Amino acid sequence: MLTSVSGFPRVGRNRELKRVIEAYWKGTASLEEVRKVSAQLRAEHWKLQADAGIDLISSNDFSLYDQVLDTAILLNVIPQRYRRLALDNPEDTLFAIGRGYQGEKGDVTALPMKKWFTTNYHYIVPEIDESTEIKLSGSKPFDEFEEAKQQGIITKPVLVGPYTFLKLARGSKAEELDIDKGLVNAIANAYAEIVKRFVELGAQWVQFDEPYLVLDKEDGDIALFKSLYAKILPARGGKLKILLNTYFGHIADCYETVNLLGFDGIGLDLIEGRDDNLAAVDRYGVTENTTLFAGVVNGRNIWRNNYAQSLGLVEALQKKTDKVAVATACSLLHVPFSTAGEEALGQNVLKHFAFAVEKLGEVKDIAQLAEADEQAKRESQVLAENQELFDGSRVNPDAEVQARLDALNESDFVRQPLREERQKAQREALGLPLLPTTTIGSFPQTKEIRAQRAKLRKGEISREEYEQFIKSHIDEVIRQQEQIGLDVLVHGEFERNDMVEYFGQRLNGFLFTKNAWVQSYGTRCVKPPIVWGDVSRANPITVEWSAYAQSRTERHVKGMLTGPVTILNWSWPREDVSHEYQTKQLALAIRDEVLDLEAAGINIIQIDEAALREKLPLRRSDWHSRYLDWAIPAFRLVHSAVKPTTQIHTHMCYSEFNDIIRDIDAMDADVISFEASRGDLVVLDAIHDARFETEAGPGVYDIHSPRIPSQQEIEDRVDQILAKMDVSKVWINPDCGLKTRGNAETWPSLSHLVRAAQAVRERL
Ligand code: GLN
Ligand code: ZN
Repeated sequence: MLTSVSGFPRVGRNRELKRVIEAYWKGTASLEEVRKVSAQLRAEHWKLQADAGIDLISSNDFSLYDQVLDTAILLNVIPQRYRRLALDNPEDTLFAIGRGYQGEKGDVTALPMKKWFTTNYHYIVPEIDESTEIKLSGSKPFDEFEEAKQQGIITKPVLVGPYTFLKLARGSKAEELDIDKGLVNAIANAYAEIVKRFVELGAQWVQFDEPYLVLDKEDGDIALFKSLYAKILPARGGKLKILLNTYFGHIADCYETVNLLGFDGIGLDLIEGRDDNLAAVDRYGVTENTTLFAGVVNGRNIWRNNYAQSLGLVEALQKKTDKVAVATACSLLHVPFSTAGEEALGQNVLKHFAFAVEKLGEVKDIAQLAEADEQAKRESQVLAENQELFDGSRVNPDAEVQARLDALNESDFVRQPLREERQKAQREALGLPLLPTTTIGSFPQTKEIRAQRAKLRKGEISREEYEQFIKSHIDEVIRQQEQIGLDVLVHGEFERNDMVEYFGQRLNGFLFTKNAWVQSYGTRCVKPPIVWGDVSRANPITVEWSAYAQSRTERHVKGMLTGPVTILNWSWPREDVSHEYQTKQLALAIRDEVLDLEAAGINIIQIDEAALREKLPLRRSDWHSRYLDWAIPAFRLVHSAVKPTTQIHTHMCYSEFNDIIRDIDAMDADVISFEASRGDLVVLDAIHDARFETEAGPGVYDIHSPRIPSQQEIEDRVDQILAKMDVSKVWINPDCGLKTRGNAETWPSLSHLVRAAQAVRERL
């Protein structure tokens, strides 16, 4: 039975790739070194997979920045402004597209970045315009194939498929592409050319990733897919096998078509798309020469595979065909490198986890077990040991948490009185002016602050010293906010490393790793905490800091919390209980914190849900039933018990919620702030059209750039907002937290913001 891995993490066991690329950007490493480290990483990763007995090992899953950007460059999809820089090396052009370029050769911003489906990985959005001449123009996939061949490994090159590429690409003004015949032909020809080159090079399999197939189809999508592959498949000439790989969901709505096209392999996600994919295979069968790649090893979570279950899935496919391969459900890019090095967690904990390296072993084990006869299976040590992991309960359920959940009733999810009444009561109680000004929570986290935290960790300073240090920063930030005249102040979040980790570390039920990094974008990595058991709050988490800040000023200080949906979405969730269940536990924990903040005299409390939109299911028909129907109530559970005069804020990073605007309103917060500063007025229209009830602060300037906006610019922006929204519902704030900014630009920007609000108020 064939084994296949869709893709392997590229950043390296100890993030070697990140280190060397960032050193190159800083000028402390040469391009030669970048190339050398890259080749070493590729070699090591291929060898690891070969040693694990994987048959189809991917090449071209390596990237210096992003695989979608690599594909664009391969297809000559490079906007003129980057070509015109005429940089010395292809890598420099690639980095210029990925992160912008400012230097002696010119000044260009980066191409936009977007979330890769429902993951926390971000890809670069390819830009195609009239002047783009699509053709095969690079050699990266071929070079890497040859490189592995020299090492004695015939790899399976992986490319983002033409359908997904076209669906993700945008025009030069970020508009949707008009995918006309010429474009389809050009793309199909380039891919046919790629296939031919691989035939010449002696490849046996090539993998085209088409995750876009798991999305709802628009008119013409299926026809587009068919016309692309009708041109590409014949280029095989009977010498190369093409694996059409799909993941992050099911392809039941197009399986029939895809199956009839005669791919040599079809990759199905049997984790996220299990039931629908199985039903489709059952209904339409499998074309004679097609191998089904059973994606049974989860590439999106870190728990051990349940072998008995995976074998059941493989068997279900075997009822329809004897050509089944065992594969990862998606690329392993989205999991950390290896559990080796995490021994501090203890063997009893660690045995439950499989990161990328361990997942290789799982793929192999499952394939071997699937080939074994019944007796061999009964006697298999591997299977028995795996079964033990799932027999009985891994953790003792927390009876108290369970009792609290059981006792919840509908009224716990509903805040009283109605929002309109609350808004009136709050206006009186809080005494804020029209167009109140505030920020999103964090202020610049300077090197000095991070250094103090490191010292505390290493025991070089005492907790008292550290707290004194943080308090002095709070004093200073309160004073400065008062001085420039902000209306609602914050304490600055200086004590937090990360908005999720900070809470995870103070809640029962979480575990932390040392080195379990996954790539988020470019060279940036994140290290999500693990939800291990039932979650509850042991002690107040933020109350002391907020109360301290409030004691330093007459103005209102806004308490600052991370919401339950975001904590879960940026952690590794449990697989033994549902996301809904885990989110509810988190909601109860944060609810305790909300009530304690209120009791400590904090009248305004913000509960951030930065990642709420991120896990919205890919198919519209699942939005409510599989997500919003519990995610939105979980948020309400957090704040439903506060007094009418306590004002609840929330914050979301992106304004891409036009399509779920009613659900956002149903969070029943009093105020929401969000990112809308990149000229995107669509959300303002949506707010207007939906008669959005929540007061709202659409960000008036972009904190992702060091630029200082002028007072006039912000005033113009406020005027644009007021054209769409009722003035009594508008807040004035930047579009996200200021943690990554410097003080040098932060204070002038905020001061312009306050003056802009004052100026607009005066002419109302
Ligand atoms: N309160 C957080 C901050 O200001 C929110 C961060 C976020 O939205 N990503 O940093
Ligand atoms: Zn944000």
